[in-house]
Amino acid sequence: MKFHLLTIFPGIFDSYLNESILKRAREKKAASFKIHNLRDWTTDNHKTVDDTPYGGGAGMLMKIEPLYKALEAIKKTNKKVNPKKRKVLLMSASGQKWNQALAQKYSKLDEVIFVCGRYEGVDARIKKFIDEEISIGDYVLTGGELPALTIIDSITRLLPGVLGNKQSIIEESHSETGVLEYPQYTRPEIFIANKKKYPVPKVLLSGDHKKIKEWREGEMKKQ
Ligand code: SAH
Repeated sequence: MKFHLLTIFPGIFDSYLNESILKRAREKKAASFKIHNLRDWTTDNHKTVDDTPYGGGAGMLMKIEPLYKALEAIKKTNKKVNPKKRKVLLMSASGQKWNQALAQKYSKLDEVIFVCGRYEGVDARIKKFIDEEISIGDYVLTGGELPALTIIDSITRLLPGVLGNKQSIIEESHSETGVLEYPQYTRPEIFIANKKKYPVPKVLLSGDHKKIKEWREGEMKKQ
């Protein structure tokens, strides 16, 4: 899976993509990440990526030309990819809400290109040149970089060979609609804080796998 990130803040991604599971995914060649600086596709000396909105109103908007040029160029970097297995996603507070089912669906793609907005957003004509607008929740962030990382993270951990234990993907929250994981505990058996005891549920210490399974199924809440 190849991920492209189109942004005016390329430095944001370095640390997150270079730690833990995402780093491992890259080392195992399950995922690759390419960061593109939108300013590389500007033509003026100031490398302008934004302008005021027609009709007036607060703030600045991202201009369409550099975005269009960048998208065309990025698509050409990987000629081998089947266009049906590539998606261009615009990060947008008003887009379709991201969820685990979409993460599963998109994990079957070969290439995903993220357009990270900034300012008050992007000239609406961008919609003709992208596949989906995606939101990560009903709140407004300052940019599309965290949403893109959130989506990349949720897709990458589903890619074959990335997580050590396949079972962790099957039994987790949202793996089926409305299913949430059962509570889990690790040592110590009794945790004491302010003289109060917090024991682990007894059934988990019983060694009775059938009973444990029943207890866990009972705890998995259907929404
Ligand atoms: N004026 C816009 C908000 C712009 S926020 C509005 O009212 O909807 C600037 C950028 O941050 C957006 O272009 C988008 O790329 C990103 N962004 C903000 N909140 C987001 C969210 N919840 N999900 C995905 N992207 C978001």
